[in-house]
Amino acid sequence: MTWDRVERLIGSDNLKRLSQKRVGIVGLGSGGGFVAQSLAMSGVGGFVLIDDDVLEKHNVVRHVCDLRDVGRPKVEAVADLIRQRNPEAHVETHIGRVENHLDALDNLDLLIVGVDGEGIKYTINQACLERDLIAIYAGVYERGEGGDVVTIHPYDGPCYACWAAALREGMQFDDPGELDYGMIGPEGTLEAEPALWLHVVRVASVQSDFAIKELLRDSHDLPANTIILANNAIEIIDGQQSPPHSSLWVNVPRDPACLVCGDQVRSAAQGSAAIDRQQSLDDLMHEAGLEMQQEDDENQQSASRQ
Ligand SMILES: [Zn+2]
Repeated sequence: MTWDRVERLIGSDNLKRLSQKRVGIVGLGSGGGFVAQSLAMSGVGGFVLIDDDVLEKHNVVRHVCDLRDVGRPKVEAVADLIRQRNPEAHVETHIGRVENHLDALDNLDLLIVGVDGEGIKYTINQACLERDLIAIYAGVYERGEGGDVVTIHPYDGPCYACWAAALREGMQFDDPGELDYGMIGPEGTLEAEPALWLHVVRVASVQSDFAIKELLRDSHDLPANTIILANNAIEIIDGQQSPPHSSLWVNVPRDPACLVCGDQVRSAAQGSAAIDRQQSLDDLMHEAGLEMQQEDDENQQSASRQ
C-alpha cells in the first residue's frame, strides 16, 4: 500500500496524524458511505461505523456499495470498502440504532453524522456535548436541490439544536417544503423523494473535506461554521436567487438561551439541578419546526414569530 500521492499533498506528518485518528460515522447511507470511503482514501486509520440498516436492491443507485452487497448490513459492506482502500485501517462496526450504541461514541476524535432523521440528530447532539466530541452534520434538501454542512464544537459555537433553530428561522424559503426539514414525517424520518447520488455526493464531499480539515486542525481556515450548497437554483436568502453550483457561508452563533447548550442549562447542570431532558427535547423539536407538517401555514407563521 503506497500513500505517496496523498503524502505529497498533505505531508508525511499529516498523513501519520490521520492514520492515528478514530472517526465515528453514524448512518451509512448515500452520504455516510461516501464520507467513509473518502476518509479511508485520505489516510484516516480508524473507523467506528454505526447503522441499523441492510443494503437493499433499491439502495444501489445511491450508495458506494453495489449489487454484490445486497442483503448485508451496511456497516459490514462499508467496512469492507474501507479495507479495500486501506488494509491497515481499523474498523469497528455496530449494527443497530445509535441511541442503543452511544458507548461507541466514547474516545472518538470526530463524529460524522449521516443520518436522515432530524429527531435522532438531537440525541446525537446531546451525546456529543456530554463527550466533548466534535461533530460534522450534513443535510440534503428535498430532491437534492441543495444541502448544508456544519461543524459543531461543543460549547464553542452553537450546538446542533440552536444551530438548526437559528438556520431555519433565518433562512427564507418560498415554500418550506423545499427544505428537508419540512418533509419530516411523524417518525422523524424523511418522507421526501430522495436526491440523486451526484447531488448527495456534492454535500458529502464537503462534509469529508470539513472532516479532514478538522482532524488536521486546519478548520480555522474556514470562513464560517456552516456552508449552504445550491445544487439547483434555490433561494437561500429571501429575494436572492443562488445559482446552481454556488455556495454560501453562514456563521451561526451559539444561542445563550438554548435549551441544550445555553447558559442556564449549563449553570443548572453545574448546580446539580435535574433537567427534564425529555421535555427539553420536545420543546426544541417544536421550536425547530419539526411539527411543521401537521400545522397549517398560519400556525407556522405565528410559531416562527414567537
Ligand atoms: Zn445549543
